[in-house]
Amino acid sequence: MKNKWLEEITEELKKLPGIGEKSAFKITLHILSRPQEEVEEFARKLVDIKRNLKFCSICGGLTVEDPCEICSDPYRDRSILMVVEKPQDIFVFEKTGVFKGKYHVLGGLISPSAGITPDKLRIKELKERVVKEGVKELIISTSPTVEGETTALYIKKLFENTPVKISRLASGIPFGADLEFTDERTLSRALLNRITLE
Ligand SMILES: [Zn+2]
Repeated sequence: MKNKWLEEITEELKKLPGIGEKSAFKITLHILSRPQEEVEEFARKLVDIKRNLKFCSICGGLTVEDPCEICSDPYRDRSILMVVEKPQDIFVFEKTGVFKGKYHVLGGLISPSAGITPDKLRIKELKERVVKEGVKELIISTSPTVEGETTALYIKKLFENTPVKISRLASGIPFGADLEFTDERTLSRALLNRITLE
């Protein structure tokens, strides 16, 4: 039996990462079995958060309050900045609980073929923060792809002849892998064993 509205929800759920046809259908049935208030509350939360989400004016991460929780946390080490490609990468690292410094989102990776030059990224802001916040180390955590390496090298060059230490996540993350799909243990290990770029 084809059911249009049942299919509509299933189709939406299938857009989520890692959710196939079968799981989507199962989740649809589960949602429909829940009490009315619970489903409304869930839908409202999603819409509310999405509506109120903005970019943190300091790190560029996603947040409801600006500055974000991490930037305004006095107990986080402001002398170490983790440089990431996109806002979601912050959530991935936060989940490991290993990193106690602060973050800086670049908003992309250098890719001349795609027309993404350094001036299109938040690199100027990074330079300003390093000076203003007295940053001593930058951990460049861009993905191990050609663009990720190019960006890491560019930033390393930028801080040449300055006392700022530049490090890169240790290997263990397969080349071409997306941080989002790297498991927490691998990520924690890569962070602890980070390599100083000479
Ligand atoms: Zn922030």
